[in-house]
Amino acid sequence: MAFIVAIDGPAGTGKGTVTKILAKRNGFIYIDTGAMYRCVTLECINRGILPNETKKINEVLENIDIKLMPDSVVFLNGKDVSEEIRTPNVDKFVAKFAELKEVRDKLTPIQQAMGKNADVIMEGRDIGTVVFPNADVKIFLDCALEERANRRYKQNLEKGIEQSYQEVLKAIVERHRLETEREIAPLTKTEDAILVDSTDMTIEEVVNTIEEVIRRKNND
Ligand code: C5P
Repeated sequence: MAFIVAIDGPAGTGKGTVTKILAKRNGFIYIDTGAMYRCVTLECINRGILPNETKKINEVLENIDIKLMPDSVVFLNGKDVSEEIRTPNVDKFVAKFAELKEVRDKLTPIQQAMGKNADVIMEGRDIGTVVFPNADVKIFLDCALEERANRRYKQNLEKGIEQSYQEVLKAIVERHRLETEREIAPLTKTEDAILVDSTDMTIEEVVNTIEEVIRRKNND
């Protein structure tokens, strides 16, 4: 049986970084489900499709080809979009496409299939609630809002993306609202998920904490 680790939580908690390290250190396949929602969003933006244009979105979904490769490389319809899917413009629209039933109905089964025969560590918003409600380990990674905005602001600076702290904060607040208030698969912590608050923790401390949970579960 495959071993599944589900890591859910809002943007800017360090989820991506931590999950990647955990995957490497523990021999799991790393799956970034956010990248898949970002690909759908990018394709729609590029074609000038709005979130209310269901028919056109369905056409995009029918033909979309998303490939998650090692080292966070992402291919969308044969093109490397690893950087393009992480721009502020995609940040701005992604939650609006991700809340659509059609989009989730397409991506959720693909994600479930990825965890069928392999040990995976999957990060997103609904992994422990919808994609793998029976995951072996469920982590809800949280962090204070200002610190999340601060981390995203610094990441942007490193990538050469110019956005003020206030703009980053505003975008994070809006995305959080859409993700937690949506009807389908809202971001929420289940009772059986272990809460890790990374506000005052280093990446290494978060990794070690989660690793300990995985180790305990493995020894059950
Ligand atoms: O994790 P990341 O910030 O890259 O995710 C991008 C967006 O994709 C999120 O803001 C959220 O709206 C959506 N998402 C989702 N369900 C997931 C993963 C991501 O709705 N499992």
